[in-house]
Amino acid sequence: MFLTEVIPLTKIPRRRTEPFFYFTSQKLKRGFLVSILLRKKEVLAIVISQKSIRETKLELKMADYQLKPIKEVLICQEIIGFPFLDLVQWISGYYFSSLSNSLLLFLPQKIVKKIVFERDLRFPRIKPKDTKKSFLSPKVFISKIGFLPKKEIKSVLEQGKQILFLFPRRSQKAFWEEKLKKISPSLIFWSSKTSPKNFFNNFQKVKNKEVQIIFGQISALFAPFCDLGLIVIFDPENSSFKAKKEPRFNVKDVACKMAQILKIDLLQVDSFLSLENYYLKLKKKIKIIKLQNENFFLNFSNLKFIERGREEGFSPISKKLFDKIQSYLFRDKKIILFLNRRGVATSLFCQDCGFIMKCKNCNLPLTYHLGVGRAYLLCHHCGQEGGVPSYCPYCNSWRMKTIGIGTQKVEDFLKEKFKKENIDVPILKLDKDSTKTKTKQKEVINLFLSAKRTILITTKLIFNFPESKSHLVGIISLESLLSLPSFKIKEEILRIIHNLAGVAKEEFLLQVFSRGNDFYRILKENQFYPQKIFDILLQERQFYFYPPYASLIKLTLLDKNLRRAIENGEKLKNEIRKMRNFLNIPPESFKILGPAPAFVAKKNKNFVFHILIKENLADFHKRNKILKVLPPSWEIDIDPLQTI
Ligand SMILES: [Zn+2]
Ligand SMILES: [Zn+2]
Repeated sequence: MFLTEVIPLTKIPRRRTEPFFYFTSQKLKRGFLVSILLRKKEVLAIVISQKSIRETKLELKMADYQLKPIKEVLICQEIIGFPFLDLVQWISGYYFSSLSNSLLLFLPQKIVKKIVFERDLRFPRIKPKDTKKSFLSPKVFISKIGFLPKKEIKSVLEQGKQILFLFPRRSQKAFWEEKLKKISPSLIFWSSKTSPKNFFNNFQKVKNKEVQIIFGQISALFAPFCDLGLIVIFDPENSSFKAKKEPRFNVKDVACKMAQILKIDLLQVDSFLSLENYYLKLKKKIKIIKLQNENFFLNFSNLKFIERGREEGFSPISKKLFDKIQSYLFRDKKIILFLNRRGVATSLFCQDCGFIMKCKNCNLPLTYHLGVGRAYLLCHHCGQEGGVPSYCPYCNSWRMKTIGIGTQKVEDFLKEKFKKENIDVPILKLDKDSTKTKTKQKEVINLFLSAKRTILITTKLIFNFPESKSHLVGIISLESLLSLPSFKIKEEILRIIHNLAGVAKEEFLLQVFSRGNDFYRILKENQFYPQKIFDILLQERQFYFYPPYASLIKLTLLDKNLRRAIENGEKLKNEIRKMRNFLNIPPESFKILGPAPAFVAKKNKNFVFHILIKENLADFHKRNKILKVLPPSWEIDIDPLQTI
């Protein structure tokens, strides 16, 4: 008799009932498919280990549940290879999800049902060639969008191995398909959204090594590779690479773990060196390869600042910028005006010096709220609340105002100005409100590119269209960009500036209130030494205990009852704190912030509360021992992109 640990192929709430043991007289290997009874229902499951009962008598006595037999052994073949089962276990541990939910990423139910249905199917046993390599640190290519590392790809193809290409957005499929086809016709587009029949065919083709190149978005990471030799990720920091549902994994990190387990190369292609990669470079844990810019990875030497003065009064566009716009229009040229989406967050800032009210603990903008009878400022990280000051703490001005310039405001302002000056010019808008569909967005871009003289007011959506070029590019407000309470916002702004610098054919301008804005001073002083800006930002991250010096964990609770939500938040915080102290973990290595109301405080009639944890334990097993106190009603996000 054998005691067999299995992972059921059905959705199971995180870390409640694991592990699952069953007994059988058959000797089974890791990766075999069986069926079991789970809560009186027949469920498919994958074997992960087996021990003879004699060895485990002690464990059996201690098990407080009735041991059941395996119902049926369905397929005596590795449905999923063992390196990938290792990865399943890592995903489940790192992202604090159940083993089942992590395994379902690799074996969606529709595919397993089909495998069972085609019972007599046999996957040929192809032994991957063992080249006995050790895992090298990931390589990052810094290059314009669209670059393909051909040399590396060809060398892996010549060895007869498979290659995985990951890109963030579906709209880029045709672009990459055309490029990849030129290198090898043996390619397949992997998508979880095809019919079960197509999906099964693709599954077989990849598993039987009938194709060499597998390309796709997030789900392609979990294709059943047989002999993978290389992973290439384009635009690795793109938010589309973060899973929306549990387990909320990040493609870049899972791919890195996969490369480590398989001992293969991982290449990232990005237009901008992220702060995290810069940090890894300093630690010699990553190799950076510069391609287009021989000078440096961050290039914005063509940027000019328009400092706004007190005298002018607040309008979205200063006189200096308006004069520039006019002069470009007279010469029949194109203009892009850039700003972030309205209503993302409202912070309080000084109209005279640009000073933004920040939380002293978290170094992030406080958010302005209109409560009953009074306005107040709130930090959505630590819950710190404060009154609205009547004077600017930096320059004593009384003209404190909420930031909220949106594309509509800029459009209205320009229309009125043009009417006064008798200028007739088309104004286009590219944002999520006015251009909802991709076709509509493409239409706007085409209109802009074909027009002789025109203005395009745009948000970050412009970066989905790398073909965009403009004579003049202007960023409307640095303060407005900075008002988003995210620890990554300054890095984001650097990325925006870096990418816009490539869009501007003639001039590139940024409007800023100079005096109260410390980030502006950093930018200006180090415009030609961007590495120093990176160093300063890293120092800030270290001081305030943010990544890469700490890992973040966001815990979210939704409750219809406000009082109960607050009570449960406090209760959980106490339990986490107790567990941390019980395990002798120093508070400075495991900081618990909140509970604080989320930025979007209500979702479908539910109140939303967050607890944010910053920790540097390095070992997720230790961390998980603390997180065990987390009730199933709380959502968990490890390494969240948004912390509010
Ligand atoms: Zn705070
Ligand atoms: Zn001020």
